[in-house]
Amino acid sequence: MARLTQAQCRLCRSYGEKMFLKGAKCNSGKCPMIKRPFAPGQHGNRRKKESNYGLQLKEKQKAKRIYGILERQFKKYFALAERTKGVTGHTLLQLLERRLDNVAFRLCFAYSRAQARQLVRHNNIYVNNKKVNIPSYTVKEGDVIEVKGKEERLKAISEIRKDLKDRIVPKWLEQEKDALKGAVKSLPAREDLDFSIQEQLIVELYSK
Ligand code: ZN
Repeated sequence: MARLTQAQCRLCRSYGEKMFLKGAKCNSGKCPMIKRPFAPGQHGNRRKKESNYGLQLKEKQKAKRIYGILERQFKKYFALAERTKGVTGHTLLQLLERRLDNVAFRLCFAYSRAQARQLVRHNNIYVNNKKVNIPSYTVKEGDVIEVKGKEERLKAISEIRKDLKDRIVPKWLEQEKDALKGAVKSLPAREDLDFSIQEQLIVELYSK
């Protein structure tokens, strides 16, 4: 476990971002992005310049890792974004951000997106009073997201939320104060992401 933790936060350094991966320490003060915000390796801070293709690939990998999705699914999101009106890169990020597992994470029901995904899979997340156990479910404006389940589980999740009280809930979501509940007020905007990414590089990669 210790090894995994180390490896996972190593990725935080590699991508220059708190990745909130399973087993990572991003929620505590231990994520190296706080103390050593440069790439791993002795000369991490003065690595040789990467090729354009390398950078494009890296941005794509970063998005995939953050949301915990595989290439096939990512491609589907891209195809959908491409045929949707608007800026493709923005739509792509918006679709990723609207995933139910991400919403559960951003409403502070879990430490990581991976943990939030488990909540969805284990039937603890309800959308508009209906159980939804599909992590990729796309939320829409007006949806009400609620945690339900055995008392023990609810207690544990309340503790997590207390623990994460300093984490910023994005303004497109509304967190209910005294219940494990939240609502989608609007669709996420580009600036609502909790990490930085150059989505244009991803668009360029797929447009080849
Ligand atoms: Zn980390």
